[in-house]
Amino acid sequence: MDLFLNFLDSTFLDSAYESVRCNLELTICSAIQQSNFIFTKSVIIRSLGEPLCKIAKDNSLWDRESIFRQSISLFLSVWPLSVFLYIPVATLCYYWAFDRSLERHPKFARNQIKREISDSLQALFYMNLMTTPIFIAQINSSGYCKLYKFGTASWWYEVLQIPLFILFSDTCVYWLHRLFHKNMFLFKTMHKQHHKYVIPTPFGAYSFHPVEGWIMSLPVYAYSFILPMSDYVQLVILLYSNLWAFILHDSREQAHTVHHKNLNFNFGQFCSLWDRLGGTYVDPEIFLRAESIGNPFTGSKGLL
Ligand SMILES: [Zn+2]
Ligand SMILES: [Zn+2]
Repeated sequence: MDLFLNFLDSTFLDSAYESVRCNLELTICSAIQQSNFIFTKSVIIRSLGEPLCKIAKDNSLWDRESIFRQSISLFLSVWPLSVFLYIPVATLCYYWAFDRSLERHPKFARNQIKREISDSLQALFYMNLMTTPIFIAQINSSGYCKLYKFGTASWWYEVLQIPLFILFSDTCVYWLHRLFHKNMFLFKTMHKQHHKYVIPTPFGAYSFHPVEGWIMSLPVYAYSFILPMSDYVQLVILLYSNLWAFILHDSREQAHTVHHKNLNFNFGQFCSLWDRLGGTYVDPEIFLRAESIGNPFTGSKGLL
């Protein structure tokens, strides 16, 4: 994230912050000093104005290294960027890969796409808000965070960290996902929201309870606190993990399509390794063929 932040700082954030700060000083601080009418009459504006004036005058808050400035910069850039990517990617997956005849299926909910968009946009706001402290920790805790500049490690590790991450992430997501199903409190308060739709569309890629969506995204960031990861690889993984959420919900014959139809099976994220080891794997082809001829799947009932 420091790559991203450095780019934003040098291109336009330095001048934007300077402009905001000058304007705060010129308007709010001057008005307070001159006992401007609006500040003497309105308790609410006065109570907001004084802290804002203090912030404007505190040089340490406006430095590039300030956690206050970094938090605002990251949230106000990553959140709109995530929304900016969500809309076209979901639309593209919907028109390109989603089987639109499924919209006539009796289990396709009324106004489902509108509801999926609304759920996803809300989740993106809160998930980005909760992820900002993690980005701050990555940037400011060089002793703990093992992010390094791409190209400074040997070439074989640059390649190896990708399968290592997939194994790490799949292990975490599989067991977390099973926990969200097994524990009725977690299921009812959070994960049930994702299973409102039996036939999800790519617009439901972030249709999660924000806290659950955030917890499920933690492996992407946790890896760099456990094993070394290069900055570019983390960026690619971050984009790929997000893209994967759309692919999982595009109605193709795949493991996650089965999971939305039968909650006992296929909890994995990128691969079926842990489902096979944990006895929760069902071949999507067999499951969906049985369903298409009107015979519910009669194989293993899973472990839940
Ligand atoms: Zn689930
Ligand atoms: Zn899903």
